[in-house]
Amino acid sequence: MAGTNPTGRHVAVLGGGICGLATAYRLTRSGHRVTLIEGSDQLGGLGTFFAWRDGWVERFYHCVMPSDDELLGLLAELGLADEVRWRRTEMGMIVDGRHHAFNTARDLLRFTPLGLPDRIRFGVVSLLLRGLGRGRDLDDTRTEDWLRGLYGNAVWETLLAPMFGSKFGHSFGDVPALYLWQRLGRERNVATRGYPARGYRSVIDGLRAAIEAGDATVRLSTPVEQLSVVDGRASVTLPGGEIVEADQVVSTLPLPQLRQLADDDLAARLPTVRLPYQGVVNALFFLRRPLAGHYWTPVVRSGTEFDGVVEMSALAGTAPYGGRHLAYVMRYTDRESTLYQEDGDSIAARWTGQLRTLYSGLPLTDDDIDEVHVFKAPFVEPVYPLGYLRQRPPVELPGTPVLLATTAHVYPRVTSWNSSVRLANQVAATIDRAAVSPRTAAAMRAEGEPSP
Ligand SMILES: Cc1cc2nc3c(=O)[nH]c(=O)nc-3n(C[C@H](O)[C@H](O)[C@H](O)COP(=O)(O)OP(=O)(O)OC[C@H]3O[C@@H](n4cnc5c(N)ncnc54)[C@H](O)[C@@H]3O)c2cc1C
Repeated sequence: MAGTNPTGRHVAVLGGGICGLATAYRLTRSGHRVTLIEGSDQLGGLGTFFAWRDGWVERFYHCVMPSDDELLGLLAELGLADEVRWRRTEMGMIVDGRHHAFNTARDLLRFTPLGLPDRIRFGVVSLLLRGLGRGRDLDDTRTEDWLRGLYGNAVWETLLAPMFGSKFGHSFGDVPALYLWQRLGRERNVATRGYPARGYRSVIDGLRAAIEAGDATVRLSTPVEQLSVVDGRASVTLPGGEIVEADQVVSTLPLPQLRQLADDDLAARLPTVRLPYQGVVNALFFLRRPLAGHYWTPVVRSGTEFDGVVEMSALAGTAPYGGRHLAYVMRYTDRESTLYQEDGDSIAARWTGQLRTLYSGLPLTDDDIDEVHVFKAPFVEPVYPLGYLRQRPPVELPGTPVLLATTAHVYPRVTSWNSSVRLANQVAATIDRAAVSPRTAAAMRAEGEPSP
């Protein structure tokens, strides 16, 4: 297929995160010429990595779920599906500084932050919740209204808001209940989770190799400066005034970033919905000892600024980390917040103290903490308004050759690699349909096939 470009069509893909990579991959497979343009010096976006010793470690914790059908399908095409190592993982909860296992009915019955009637109510309602949501207009229902009504105040305040709300901060109660309902279909306390044996970098490298084996160019360290439409074609301005012209362009950039790059004509055509976005501040601790061995532990009212701990080594083991145990702690926050604006070193110093206090029962000493790294990302989670299904922008921008494939488009699915791959498949199929030339369509009709 290399160099053939049977469709004669050139598509520029903006952003080399998983959505851009998967879109570029699909488009090269369909015979389009593709230019993938990434602003930073690495592919992978939020799934990207940093050099650590003689290997690579993800900046942000990531795992695969068994229900990630589209992602697993892509990995199978790349010959990487067998690399995913699956493990049973567990969950903890830390409330008021006290540690609780939170996996079995027995754990729940012993969960003293709630009174016994609320523990039972939590268990029963949770079992029924997916069914209770079916057929309801959850897109127009506030999460807090739905869950407080079903579970009661104590469960909402002590458990649900901290467990599921950290990504949205105070806005969690306002987002449509449909989001949580979908998320519960993907996540469980005791869950089998997967992690690629050679890390997410192997997936990113595999995609890049497959893209470059087609008729594609991958450009790194090339931040797009402007996007405009000239005579019906896309015109992408790169540093130094270089222009890339394309028949179509797929932007995977978060909408607020695209808005800044679009020229006035294009900006006027962009979706009117203006979503706030949560960013994240996240610290990685390389430890000489494990913490509690739980993959995920929400932290509630325990004197920390971070509100969750992910023990990556409970899933990935210690081999990828030179025998160290890797734990991520995180706080989702607005990119304008004081915390987000603070420098990484002072966050690392303060959060080290907080982690030591949180796990003082182990105890966790200074000697146990080998290294700390802080990473931030400004655009992680769009905060969806009520009724977002009606406001969610279409992927095609009418009257332009521009298509949008962003995290604002995956709702009600959770923001994840799987959702991005699914969206990439959808966008690539849209381009394929438009690219069927009259000659191809005529040939297909002559052969008795329905043209797309
Ligand atoms: C802390 C954290 C934990 C997560 N955990 C999981 C998990 O366990 N499992 C899971 O599946 N998902 C997880 N996710 C979500 C997942 O990472 C995202 O949903 C997914 O990576 C989004 O991909 P994307 O390609 O849409 O966007 P991004 O990854 O944001 O990619 C956008 C790309 O555009 C580039 N760009 C920006 N501006 C320009 C410009 N001007 N010119 C060119 N390029 C530009 C950026 O550099 C970036 O590479 C997690 C995310 C975070 C932050």
